[in-house]
Amino acid sequence: MRWALIGASRIASSYMIDAMRAGEGSSIASVLSSDAARGEAYAREHGIARSFTDLNDLLGDDSVDAVYISTTNEKHHAQALASISAGKHVLCEKPLAMTLDEAGEMVRAADERGVVFATNHHLRNAGSHLAIRELIRSGRIGRVLSARVFHAVNLPEVLRGWRINNAAAGGGVIPDITVHDADTIRFHLGEDPEEVVARAGASGLGEGVEDSVMSVWSMPSGTMVETHESFTHPFAGTGIEFHGTEGSIFARNVMTQEPVGDIRLVDASGETPIPFEKHNLYEYSLGLFASAVNGSGRPSADGVDGVKSLAVALAVREAALTGKAVRVGYGG
Ligand code: NDP
Repeated sequence: MRWALIGASRIASSYMIDAMRAGEGSSIASVLSSDAARGEAYAREHGIARSFTDLNDLLGDDSVDAVYISTTNEKHHAQALASISAGKHVLCEKPLAMTLDEAGEMVRAADERGVVFATNHHLRNAGSHLAIRELIRSGRIGRVLSARVFHAVNLPEVLRGWRINNAAAGGGVIPDITVHDADTIRFHLGEDPEEVVARAGASGLGEGVEDSVMSVWSMPSGTMVETHESFTHPFAGTGIEFHGTEGSIFARNVMTQEPVGDIRLVDASGETPIPFEKHNLYEYSLGLFASAVNGSGRPSADGVDGVKSLAVALAVREAALTGKAVRVGYGG
């Protein structure tokens, strides 16, 4: 797989470039930046042969099979459509777009062009989450009554740019983190949230965007879900819990990009630690993407998954803004 990077971003430099290079036969041809000097410096630092400021120039390279889009959120839509039209497979960062219509258009365009389109939801690739899902699917906790997501973190200083002060670029904790939690809950429960209520606010970092939100989601099966996402909690720690008629799953430090954490199953026979694989989340995701490109299986999170996680996030934001219960609209 020969990649081009659309966006000289931190997520690419922190995780994705190494993960791409870890793939067998995988390499990176070029990077796009809106700023020529930044693009050149980025390419030099990461050993990438070429940098571009014009997307069409980058897409004109026939040796490129796939693009990874990790610009700020308002740019994903146009860049994905151009890439699809050029016949490139696309791995796009979350949230896929600013609106549901845009996200749906991206997925339809990829279907029509016959290219693989995936959303970079990392959590469902974690050994921890794969193990949790297996516990739920195999009936170890019986009927799932409720789920709780603890995803209030301390946003590192280096990430406090557009995320905390630029609504037009897709800032705010809801597009940043709630969207991941929506994907994770869908992954575990195998169903889509129906209706949400929420409260959001700024608690120290948000300037014109929310930095904290709590929401409650109802699921078609009757399972109740509560989630908490924030940028301002230095010591809260992350976790996810599922409570069923036959047992409860307590997972701590698992809402993270690293292959870490701790899972315990508690049921009538007592408390059991649950082992899980500690592989790199992004390498795992890229492996599934490469297989899908080669005609086998599907990406970890596909385009429809990205549309659905965005739909939940948008509903949570609307519920927080209006103070009303909002039915999640998943588009056409
Ligand atoms: P960054 O802020 O690092 O990069 C986004 C854009 O900001 C880049 O495309 C770049 O523009 C511009 N930029 C980068 N550095 C500078 C600078 N020094 N001065 C001015 N502009 C700069 O964003 P992230 O990497 O944090 O996030 C990018 C995307 O990835 C988002 O959609 C986000 O939601 C997603 N993300 C996903 C994660 C996951 O685990 N799935 C984790 C983190 C982020 P240009 O390209 O034009 O140079």
